[in-house]
Amino acid sequence: MKKIGFIGLGNMGLPMSKNLLMSNFTVYGMDLNKEAEMSFHQAGGTIGISVEKMIDLCDVILTSLPSSNAVEEVFLGKEGLVHLAEAGILLIDTSTVSPELNLRIEEEAQKKGIYFLAAPVSGGVIGAINRTLTFMVGGSKSVFDKAMPVFKAMGENIFHVNERVDSGTNTKLINNLLIGFYTAGVSEALHLAKNSNLDLDRLFEMLNVSYGQSRIYERNYKSFIANDNYEPGFSLKLLRKDLGFAIDLAEKNNVDLPVSKILFDLYEDAEKNGYAENDMSVLYKKISGQKTTIL
Ligand code: NAD
Repeated sequence: MKKIGFIGLGNMGLPMSKNLLMSNFTVYGMDLNKEAEMSFHQAGGTIGISVEKMIDLCDVILTSLPSSNAVEEVFLGKEGLVHLAEAGILLIDTSTVSPELNLRIEEEAQKKGIYFLAAPVSGGVIGAINRTLTFMVGGSKSVFDKAMPVFKAMGENIFHVNERVDSGTNTKLINNLLIGFYTAGVSEALHLAKNSNLDLDRLFEMLNVSYGQSRIYERNYKSFIANDNYEPGFSLKLLRKDLGFAIDLAEKNNVDLPVSKILFDLYEDAEKNGYAENDMSVLYKKISGQKTTIL
């Protein structure tokens, strides 16, 4: 597996593909956004080839796309990967999509002898840049083992969850449900602190060594709230998308999640009121009644 195609060179895909280049893979990139393609090209990647050509040249094609719709189009569309590819190629989706879509892609891929792994990631843009991502991979263990050098070039903690292709996604949705809780918790706690005559830097110093500490508190406060900078990162609309998938999963499994439903409504309201493109930590601004800084 030396030649890799990469579709979706956004906040995550660009640094991930750059790390593949750094590990001496030959990487062919593609994005609807030409600026993203140029940045990839400047890092040594090849652009300007068609999907057919990418399939022809590559042993494995990775995707990092923003929505289930985009993933469905790129994999299952008329001009999509599964339609155009032939037996033996490996397709790996690192996006967070609905588990049901993982299953549909696998079903169509299997009909043609195409290998498919659903491999969502955690660790954020920083993890993608520093090669410290966690991968939660669902699908065939033997295919996973063969793809290990590719995962290792982009991440640090590489987990095979189980043979079900949607198992990595289900794991990731539980992770992001927790991120939704922590981000809302940090937002409300800091709003209260600010209105209780407390200095937020000093508060962080103390709570960071107390049980109120969390990785999300550190991330959201130190990298975003403290600098009043909400360029993503992980956009609020992407977190809202994942909370929706988590709630669908709960409904499918007849699990009642009363607080999660309120959480989803909170993010959906923020998304509809101008905070969608900001980093998820912007929920603090929404909760404290401040307008968004970007878009
Ligand atoms: P992003 O919006 O920054 O990047 C997505 C890229 O895909 C964009 O550059 C867009 O132009 C491109 N794209 C969309 N449709 C396309 C198509 N049909 N063909 C080619 N390119 C297309 O999103 P992101 O933050 O990089 O997230 C990507 C995925 O990774 C999402 O599923 C997200 O949930 C997941 N994720 C993100 C983070 C994070 O911190 N940003 C962390 C973990 C997982």
